[in-house]
Amino acid sequence: MTHRNIYMTDELQAIYDQTVEFVEREVTPHGEQWEVDGKVPREVLKKMGDLGMFGLRVPVEHGGLGLGMLASATFSEALGASTFGGFDVSVLVHTDMAGPHLINSGTKEQLDQWLPGVLSGDTILSIGVSEPDAGSDVAGMRTTAVRDGDGWRINGTKTYITNAVYGNMTIVAARTSTENRYGITMFLVPAGTEGFSVAKKLDKHGWRCSDTAELVFDNVWVGDDQVLGTVDRGFYETMRNFQNERMVLVGMGVGAAQVALNQTLEHVQNRPAFGGHLWDLGAIRQRLAMRQAELDAVRASMYHAAWIGDVGEDNVKEMSGVKAYGAEVVNNANLLSRVKPGMLVA
Ligand SMILES: Cc1cc2nc3c(=O)[nH]c(=O)nc-3n(C[C@H](O)[C@H](O)[C@H](O)COP(=O)(O)OP(=O)(O)OC[C@H]3O[C@@H](n4cnc5c(N)ncnc54)[C@H](O)[C@@H]3O)c2cc1C
Repeated sequence: MTHRNIYMTDELQAIYDQTVEFVEREVTPHGEQWEVDGKVPREVLKKMGDLGMFGLRVPVEHGGLGLGMLASATFSEALGASTFGGFDVSVLVHTDMAGPHLINSGTKEQLDQWLPGVLSGDTILSIGVSEPDAGSDVAGMRTTAVRDGDGWRINGTKTYITNAVYGNMTIVAARTSTENRYGITMFLVPAGTEGFSVAKKLDKHGWRCSDTAELVFDNVWVGDDQVLGTVDRGFYETMRNFQNERMVLVGMGVGAAQVALNQTLEHVQNRPAFGGHLWDLGAIRQRLAMRQAELDAVRASMYHAAWIGDVGEDNVKEMSGVKAYGAEVVNNANLLSRVKPGMLVA
């Protein structure tokens, strides 16, 4: 099958091909072991950095390619071909969930300081928004940052934070206003900062090779130069990237679901049954055709919603629909397949 779509350019096709080739060589053969270890080896992330794979969204003046959502859609679909969702999500948290906060809101000094390591894979990022009592309801968070001298004092806990056990810097959301429920600010908090610790590495049923942390902030002091973006505007800065986050989660699911359908096709064509093969049964062919048609629809609408974003228009309606419908379609496709439980997607 071809992955060309109406928005595909030679550059995007090259990104797709390079990424699929990388995961076939460096990820798929080793992913089972990473699932057991609960960790993606750092050397693999470093290799991706060396190949320029962390720079798709980084502005050209900072050494990246300065591309938009279509590039992230392409990259996430290609990563999904690995079928190891934990690997995909570790990479995508770095490039497409935490990274954009820095790129969108960072001062020149912050970008100069942090982007070289982000690009090379020496600085792996995480994004700390969720808390034990605040998930979908981002504004319900309780972690606070209170003015203290020339900086801020952060106290609270975060949970389910991908890449924060083995990563190098967490972009942390904390409440900075007592009157305004949406008065949240983002902070750059490097691993090793005094008072900032991993309370627990959480175990999971799927995506086991992505590390997931429970974090504690115990009187953590950060300077004003560690404020990312505008004080009290972090809620809106977080929301700004939500369409991109939704998209890459669907993208990796689409890539994996296509593998699942391909595996299923091969299986039914070779599985002897009733004097022929399962493939000879009309009901089997019809089910597979429906799952493929649904997946094609999700893929096409994902790229379309990415394009709407890239031309500068609001794509909240389109991308939210892609995420909601896409997750169902991806899960339906995987239920049909022989993809193993550890390879959970979307
Ligand atoms: C593997 C993994 C990795 C993660 N990585 C990160 C990370 O790196 N950084 C980070 O900050 N967070 C991360 N998260 C947290 C994730 O963002 C939250 O799980 C998510 O926001 C949902 O929050 P919750 O789990 O508290 O569920 P809740 O918000 O409590 O939702 C529970 C249920 O209520 C439903 N619900 C919620 N709101 C509504 C509504 N308005 N209307 C109808 N139904 C609703 C939900 O669909 C869900 O079924 C991760 C989670 C997981 C599982």
